Amino acid sequence: MKETRYILAMDQGTTSSRCILFDRQGTPRSVVQREFAQIYPQPGWVEHDPMDIWATQMGVAMEAMQKIDAQAEEIAAIGITNQRETTVVWDAATGKPVCNAIVWQCRRTADRIDQLRRDGLEETVRQKTGLIPDAYFSASKLAWILDNVPGARDRAERGELRFGTVDAWLIWNLTEGRVHATDYTNASRTMLFDIHKLCWDQELLDYFRIPASVLPQVLPSSHLFGATEKFGGSIPIAAAAGDQQSALFGQCGFYPGDVKSTYGTGGFLLLNTGGEAVRSDHGLLTTIAASADGQVRYALEGSVFIAGAAIQWLRDEMKLLESAPQTEELCASVEDAGGVYMVPAFAGLGAPYWEQYARGTVVGLTRGTTRAHFIRAVVEALAYQTQDLLSAMKEDSGLSLGALKVDGGASANGFLMQFQADLSNVRIERPRSVETTALGAAYLAGLATGFWRDLAEVQENWTCGQVFQPAISEERRQKLLRGWKRAVQCAVSWANLDREDGSA
Ligand code: ADP
Repeated sequence: MKETRYILAMDQGTTSSRCILFDRQGTPRSVVQREFAQIYPQPGWVEHDPMDIWATQMGVAMEAMQKIDAQAEEIAAIGITNQRETTVVWDAATGKPVCNAIVWQCRRTADRIDQLRRDGLEETVRQKTGLIPDAYFSASKLAWILDNVPGARDRAERGELRFGTVDAWLIWNLTEGRVHATDYTNASRTMLFDIHKLCWDQELLDYFRIPASVLPQVLPSSHLFGATEKFGGSIPIAAAAGDQQSALFGQCGFYPGDVKSTYGTGGFLLLNTGGEAVRSDHGLLTTIAASADGQVRYALEGSVFIAGAAIQWLRDEMKLLESAPQTEELCASVEDAGGVYMVPAFAGLGAPYWEQYARGTVVGLTRGTTRAHFIRAVVEALAYQTQDLLSAMKEDSGLSLGALKVDGGASANGFLMQFQADLSNVRIERPRSVETTALGAAYLAGLATGFWRDLAEVQENWTCGQVFQPAISEERRQKLLRGWKRAVQCAVSWANLDREDGSA
């Protein structure tokens, strides 16, 4: 019998399936990634083929093992992290999906959510699930499938169908239908799960006409879900967690006050609030955080719709850049943004403004504005938006924020990280490895199986790559923030004028 040497992390994302084998130091030893098809049947609709999700995820796992000649008995456990909210429904007997997966981005059920508001259920949803009713979450997607796929409702009522987010779909397939289960973090994004009582909520199930027989069992994130025989030997499946919660865990954000900020295409800020589910007065979501001791922890979550996407826009649409990393040098080539502010409200503004009709706005241009000033204003906008979320979180939670841990593609930009530290007056810690999403799932699985002893041992693996300390005066910080608020006001008044125009 060989000694176990690795944890196999499956990172099933929106555009690609990845697999990473981590060693005991939390170092990636083998990484394989494969993109899969995005299906857009109509404007605003987004689907994935569940068989494609499964096949690419299995494919990359096999390849990651082959690459370093890892045998099943060397793998202590599998941990799964996944795109959240995406909804799959399949036949319990055949394992065949009844239709494509409806992806979190899909807006097809927006009307259903408007109806829910008219029916007066918004407060119930907020109170029970911690979420602000939206078509992003799984509830209305699952109801849509039952209502629109021929025969689906009858089959569901006869107990023939199963529902799951992507974690549950993978677990079902890995165990060849023996296990139908999800974890608390994924369940907390369905808009059907009571995050306080930790059970599916009957009132919401009734409202969406969802038979309980389709639902997976809900288990802690770090838990023995079952075992798979798919890799030439039995391997325990010992963790599942939604991607953002997994990243918070991968950053060792175990304790109240720990925050991580992800700078990817969009931006995500998660604050661990410990055993207390904090309700937001600023449009943040209350959600379940991943934990390793079976005790439920909560988080406040805020998202920025357009973060790194604004840099892509500079590169691809404005043709002002050759590459995203080039922004760092250009930003540093000027003293400041020359009084220019750019609010990238391309898709409206999220928390704390929630103005869906706001649009991208540039203010403060003069004859002296250069390309570098403009680019710097766009990069700075990523930090301003994150600061808005941080300050909302501070007000909601009353927690004093410790250091801010960062990850995601744009966190590689040292200028941006320094500007964030200055603006938020917070110490920023960028880990050496920014593979935090997969690492979180690996830690959760390794802790469930004794591969790692405890949180302290895991914490030893977290190595800081670089620290950014705040270095500007309070007066300067306030001046910058005032300018940003005024710029946001311009984007919001544009939306108001638009509405007046529309009603005229
Ligand atoms: P996702 O996982 O959301 O697809 P990533 O975490 O891979 O995204 O980050 C990619 C984003 O980061 C892109 O939008 C890109 O424009 C941006 N980005 C990458 N490197 C840099 C950089 N050095 N400076 C600024 N933005 C960057």
